[in-house]
Parts: sequence; structure tokens; C-alpha cells
Amino acid sequence: METIKYDSHLHSDFSGDSDTPAAQMVVRAIVLGLDGLCFTEHEDPDVPLSDCDFRVDFDRYFSEMTRLREQYRGRIRIGVGMEFGIQPQLPEAFARLSRQYPFDFVIASLHNLNGKDPYYPSYFEGRAERDCYEEFFRVQYETLKACDPASFDTLGHMDYIVRYGPNRSKFYSYESYAEFIDPILRLLIENGKCLEVNTGGLKYGLGEPNPCAGVLRRYRELGGELVTVGSDAHEPEYLGYRFDDAAELLSGLGFRYYTVFEQRTGRQIKL
Ligand SMILES: [Zn+2]
Ligand SMILES: [Zn+2]
Repeated sequence: METIKYDSHLHSDFSGDSDTPAAQMVVRAIVLGLDGLCFTEHEDPDVPLSDCDFRVDFDRYFSEMTRLREQYRGRIRIGVGMEFGIQPQLPEAFARLSRQYPFDFVIASLHNLNGKDPYYPSYFEGRAERDCYEEFFRVQYETLKACDPASFDTLGHMDYIVRYGPNRSKFYSYESYAEFIDPILRLLIENGKCLEVNTGGLKYGLGEPNPCAGVLRRYRELGGELVTVGSDAHEPEYLGYRFDDAAELLSGLGFRYYTVFEQRTGRQIKL
């Protein structure tokens, strides 16, 4: 079994929640011996919380990426992507932005629902955890269904909410939310879209990536074969985080390859 040598989800200081210069990520990726990395900066329009500005200065971003690609040419592949925060009212904005810039790769991620990000404990206040999780999956499905499939390549950290619930993943499993998860997996498969394996879940101490192994197993069972793999690193030390474990998990579940994107076109790499 080969390990994974291409990180398809990471942030630099072009994202509102990272202070890492992009060049530091590239240097770290070279030190780790990765073949490539794809920056996927946060673009979350229409976010009510003003703690953080999750908008990308795309002109500056593309010009810095062009500079880095020239500087490190022949040493590592550098992808220019984005992680778009999908919301029910944003499918048109999402489609427009995806077409506007020459992205290599686009991740669709649900971070905000009903004007709140589960990252903040107030999201769960006065509500049953189960209701919050169900709502998250329901809104994710509805929102994804409203998006033009051409807008994105993969669905990011599908069970993101379990990183932050009061009991986190203690009462969570694929089986306990199957009726909410299956429609999302089917939608991805029908549209030839990838499911992301985000090793940030391991960093958050969940003991599993996002989504968990049970969801990945079910995706495979339903005929899903396309996965992208990313660390969701915001700092250099988390780049390629536990990719050996991700590779082992995926091949154990019967996945034969993972997918990386360049110019919005997928390329399969054997596991
Ligand atoms: Zn995210
Ligand atoms: Zn991210």
C-alpha cells in the first residue's frame, strides 16, 4: 500500500483563520516529500458572525500562487483551489465564482446554517444534540442539491458538526444517522462527485477522519469510489496529517485510489 502524497485541503493566511504564509506550507510539503498540495482557502460569503472575515482576495491569491509555482517549479505541484461555504441562498454566487477564476479544485463545505456556525458552542445552546446533527445533515443535503454540480469537485468534512457537539461523536455513528446521510452519499455518486476524507477529525481527537469510517464504508457500499484526501491544515505542522492512517483506512474499506484535481479535472492515484 502506498501512502498519500498529495494534500488536497489546506489553508494559509489568504483564509481569515490562518496566519501561515503560503510559502511556509509549500516548504513544509517539500520537507514531507509530498508530490503536491492544493490550497483551498475559505470563501464564506454571507456569514453573519463578524469574528473573522472569510473572504478571499482572489486577485492577490492568484498572483501569489503564480509566483510560488514559478519559484518551486519541478519540485512540487501547487494547486489553487477554494473551500466554498455553501448556504441555501448561495448556489448562484457559488456557480458564478467557480466559473470566474481558473481554480484547480473546489470543495463545497457546509459551515453555517441558519446564520450560525456549529464551531461556536452557542449553536447547541438550548437544543438537543441529535436535533442539531439531524438539521446539519438535512440542510447539507438540501443545499447541495440546489448547487450546480459543475460548481464543485468534492464535499468537504461531511460530518463537520460532530467535531463540536457537546458529546462530539460519542452518540454518533453512520447507523444512527443513516436516513440523513444516505441521500447525501447518493447525490454525490449520481453526480460523479467526490467525498472528502478530512484528517482534521483525527486532529480534533475524534479518533476518525471526517466523515467517520462508517460513512466511508457506506459510500463504498453504495458504489462510491471517488475520494479526495486533505488535512485541513491551517499551520504547517498539520500538513499531510496522519495520511498513512487515512491510506490504510481507505484501502481496508476497498477504495483503490484517491483523486487529485488540476484545472478541475480529476486524476486517480493508486492507494
Ligand atoms: Zn471547512
Ligand atoms: Zn478547511
